[in-house]
Amino acid sequence: MDLKSNPTSPVLPENTPLNISRLALRPSVVPCLSPTAVFSAGLHLTIPRKKTGILDDVRSTGWLDSMKASSPPPKRITRDANDESGAADTDLAYRIWMLKYPSGLSSFEQIASYAKGKKIVLFLDYDGTLSPIVDNPDCAIMSKSMRAAVRKAANCFPTAIISGRSRDKVLEFVKLTELYYAGSHGMDIMGPVRKSSYNDHIEHRVKQRKEVNIFQPASEFLPMINEVFNSLVESTKDIAGARVENNKFCVSVHYRNVDPANWPVVGGIVQDMLKDYPRLRLTHGRKVLEVRPVINWDKGKAVVFLLESLGLNEREDVLPIYVGDDRTDEDAFKVLREGNRGYGILVSSVPKESSAHYSLRDPSEVMEFLKLLVRWKKSNAL
Ligand SMILES: [Mg+2]
Repeated sequence: MDLKSNPTSPVLPENTPLNISRLALRPSVVPCLSPTAVFSAGLHLTIPRKKTGILDDVRSTGWLDSMKASSPPPKRITRDANDESGAADTDLAYRIWMLKYPSGLSSFEQIASYAKGKKIVLFLDYDGTLSPIVDNPDCAIMSKSMRAAVRKAANCFPTAIISGRSRDKVLEFVKLTELYYAGSHGMDIMGPVRKSSYNDHIEHRVKQRKEVNIFQPASEFLPMINEVFNSLVESTKDIAGARVENNKFCVSVHYRNVDPANWPVVGGIVQDMLKDYPRLRLTHGRKVLEVRPVINWDKGKAVVFLLESLGLNEREDVLPIYVGDDRTDEDAFKVLREGNRGYGILVSSVPKESSAHYSLRDPSEVMEFLKLLVRWKKSNAL
């Protein structure tokens, strides 16, 4: 994937309407929209359905416990900040945790030495990784300096953003057209603009067939997701602070701003609604409940899909690096760890069990890490 092939400005101006053709993938890369993806060079990737009727972690561990556990309660953070001994304990716990998940910054030399002679492919989550977690999800703005860092990284390495948000929403935030975007937890994938005679030909074909070169393994679920979105908007309208977001292949119910006393109400509404939709399941992220299709597809599968479609999967000289902060990123960390094929980097300021190899404390450290990668790449190119 040559990301330097776009001679036009890669940055979309503010409020630019999304022009999907600018992000069209080559059909040889992502050739079909059916639930079973078939790739070039004889590559076949099937997407088995999960058994219906099985809700995952939320039901098995108790959805209310999951809601409480999805991020530390604000009161605890406040208490720790005002309590020196508490802060010291927290810091010690974090440092002990870092023995298992060393900082990607202080371990950079180690990462770089392993990456020598390899082609790095970067996968980046958005919320909490490239932008801070904020109370209003619509305000999760990416800073200009972070955008510049991501753009420079994308000029050096194939780069994909993989988010639970809708692809359009993430593109609105990131505004960089040279990236791959995998929205809705990887269920809606689209690639960068490529300017070449080959690509012009493809774009012409795409326009002729009125098709969009995207990969959507769960496209048949779109009407159902819309229905659920409308239903949840209606049933949560009287709960102060509750916010329902349509992420195209996933409906997110944010309860970050809901009084904890009302969390059971929010959880109950979502659980009740799911009884009518056995083909949907419930997962949770950081103070958000997410309703998703029952389909065996996640961020880990999206990583494999992108690597395969780029012809970079299972190659000894490829080093995927995935940076993310959320439970849903764990699927990608697991793929990299179990395949012994790359590094997962967890973004977290609190100790968390993870399948990642390294850690970064917050988005500002992610930015520093990206800068180090670019500097390392340039110094090696000399
Ligand atoms: Mg995130």
